[in-house]
Amino acid sequence: MIADKMKPLMGNNSAIRTMFEEGDKMRAEYGPENVYDFSLGNPDAPVPAEVKQSIIDILNEEDPTALHGYMSNAGFEDVREAIAQSLNRRFGTAFDHGNILMTVGAASGLNVALKTILNPGEEVIVFAPYFLEYNWYVNNYDGKVVQAPTDQETFYPDLEAFEKLIGDKTRVVLINTPNNPTGVIYSEETIRQIADILERKQKELGRTIFLISDEPYRELAYGDVEVPYVTKYYDNTIVAYSYSKSLSLPGERIGYLVIPSELEESQLVFDTASNANRIIGCVNAPSLQQKMIARCVDVKVDLDYYDKNRTALYEGLKDCGFDCVKPEGAFYMFLKSPVADENEFCAEAKKHNILMVPGSAFACPGYVRLAYCTSYDTIVNSMDGFRRLADHYGL
Ligand code: PLP
Repeated sequence: MIADKMKPLMGNNSAIRTMFEEGDKMRAEYGPENVYDFSLGNPDAPVPAEVKQSIIDILNEEDPTALHGYMSNAGFEDVREAIAQSLNRRFGTAFDHGNILMTVGAASGLNVALKTILNPGEEVIVFAPYFLEYNWYVNNYDGKVVQAPTDQETFYPDLEAFEKLIGDKTRVVLINTPNNPTGVIYSEETIRQIADILERKQKELGRTIFLISDEPYRELAYGDVEVPYVTKYYDNTIVAYSYSKSLSLPGERIGYLVIPSELEESQLVFDTASNANRIIGCVNAPSLQQKMIARCVDVKVDLDYYDKNRTALYEGLKDCGFDCVKPEGAFYMFLKSPVADENEFCAEAKKHNILMVPGSAFACPGYVRLAYCTSYDTIVNSMDGFRRLADHYGL
């Protein structure tokens, strides 16, 4: 009944969703306050008030027929210009509306980018652990995902191994910083090193290699840590951005691609990507959300909300004897499983009403992901269970 290409993808769908559905059952049985669900990356920080007010103002002020109508596939020009200027102010770039293509979140932005540049059989290098939905996106265009290793202490790319994986079929290197699932942010030095390797390999192999920077967590960076703007280090970079996390709006589906003028045949790539937006069925990004973004271009959720959770969870787990890298960004923590089979650890945690996602759902067995986009109380109240878990494993 269903297409052959979809059949193997259905099993993949499950790890995080299954856990979430399990959580629903447990909430019904034990009461929501007694279930500590760290499974889903659904933003919990309140949507900034400016979002609602802008939407009300737009609906009151703008002509509905123009507002809700079709537009250029790339999106409203004034919105794209507002985003370009905001990026220029914040990161010292020199974009204008011609470099910004509005998309239906990062997921569709990545699909648009891959549709535009990836030929069947070409390879996309990702650093494991990684967001496994990349496999689906690459599969959409009959490409192949190649996993590059990271250092198991820091989750920084193993650059020597990475360089060896680049070959005649490599078309894209896909990075995600701040990272899901580790919360790690790549330093400027690491971005420079990746850029140097790619420059060298482009020359050596005589082919274009694109760097796609998937950045839905760009604004979720804690303390003074900087998230380098990747287009400044490597010309053939495409940025996929999303407001899902920065404004807590994942259901609204709004984001953009940056296609810099320095990218080879930039105008052709931009025009093709605009067309790809239509071809993959998005047509254009939602018009009301685009207009709202223009008015909220420098607004973001209250970072302290997640930072408080991050500190409480990290300190609490460390006190219990668990081992993890302190995340600098996003709202995820990647915890080393005290037993080799992290599925067993997840099953044991469930006995204490704690839900976590096995690292194998991110191509990294032996770890679990905790999404701390929960209420602060969930974190505080989960600690008894974590202590009992630590005792169980003799930590
Ligand atoms: N990339 C990563 C690493 C993600 O974690 C997610 C969503 O969680 C996405 C892309 C998709 O984001 P969006 O909701 O903006 O499409």
